[in-house]
Amino acid sequence: MATAKVLAGARVVLPTGTVTDGRVIVDGTKIAGSAPENAEVVDLAGHWVVPGFVDMHNHGGGGASFTSGTVDEILKGVHTHRLHGTTTVVTSFVTGEMDFLTQRAGLLSELAEQGEIAGIHFEGPFISPCRKGAHDETLLRDPDPAEVRKLIDAARGRAKMVTLATELPGGVDSVRLLAEHGVIAAIGHTDATYEQTVEAIDAGATVATHLFNAMPALGHRAPGPIAALLEDERITVELINDGTHLHPAALELAFHHKGGDKVAFITDAMDAAGFGDGRYMLGPLEVEVKDSVARLVEGGSIAGSTLTLDRAFKRAVTVDRLAIEDVVRALCANPARLLGMYDTVGSLEPGKDADLVVLDEEFELKGVMRRGEWLVEP
Ligand SMILES: [Zn+2]
Repeated sequence: MATAKVLAGARVVLPTGTVTDGRVIVDGTKIAGSAPENAEVVDLAGHWVVPGFVDMHNHGGGGASFTSGTVDEILKGVHTHRLHGTTTVVTSFVTGEMDFLTQRAGLLSELAEQGEIAGIHFEGPFISPCRKGAHDETLLRDPDPAEVRKLIDAARGRAKMVTLATELPGGVDSVRLLAEHGVIAAIGHTDATYEQTVEAIDAGATVATHLFNAMPALGHRAPGPIAALLEDERITVELINDGTHLHPAALELAFHHKGGDKVAFITDAMDAAGFGDGRYMLGPLEVEVKDSVARLVEGGSIAGSTLTLDRAFKRAVTVDRLAIEDVVRALCANPARLLGMYDTVGSLEPGKDADLVVLDEEFELKGVMRRGEWLVEP
């Protein structure tokens, strides 16, 4: 039987703020309020302890694709991200044939039932050909609510989010359908105007898929989706903080408008995350990863990232100079709340899963615990 552990001496980031010389008590798979007598004390002086990261937009890692991999490959990809601190992950599909996506949704819903993944995100096929990014244009389609319904039904209650270009015919009705079914409607890969974006938010959209990327730039006469997504407090914006997808000033603009509670850092990672440079497939499209930047072989569009959330964390604190509490919110609490999982993950509080990350003073990852078990022992 695993003994209880007291992680002592670290700076611990709690929802109420940072406690120096704090402690986190782990009993079994959960965080506990008090320590039993025989608890093992783990000295973490000089370290930070933060909640395990929650990634709501992630296509793969460790050489594996969540869109097309086998179950073993998917688990390997999930494990790769866990070793980088992501203890909760939503697996994202890129655009594919409807039959393929429904079949894949069935397969991954089983991994969600087993607790390996937090759910499924469909990024496409209901996105704009003008802003397709690394999605196969021949498979894109207008968002028909009946087809959206087909996808979420195939996920058997495990669909968490659908990204769509809400300005397309059927877009706003599809947002309504998703909202009614408790699935996040995310605006993204969109060519919408400001006004069209406002309409979609009023219909129930609550997330901006990688804000700034795959949407029209902010203009002073035609502000486009970015202005609408930034100004409306019902929207949480996803940001890919890898130093490639966003200029630091764009990130700062997002934090300035959204405050600490409506930003979620994501990886949008593809197979090469935690794996290395080389040639990969993203759905049906070939991608070349060079110096950790993934681009389509044809056309050169950025094709997801090779980011892991520990790197996003370090960058946010050391390059972007964000307050560590805001970074923790953007990596943990905010996505957990959106996904409806904040009662079990997203903060270090008694009763929640013992999912946590240990960082040293340079914000390098030193330990990862998931459900009470060290995956990386500090
Ligand atoms: Zn994506």
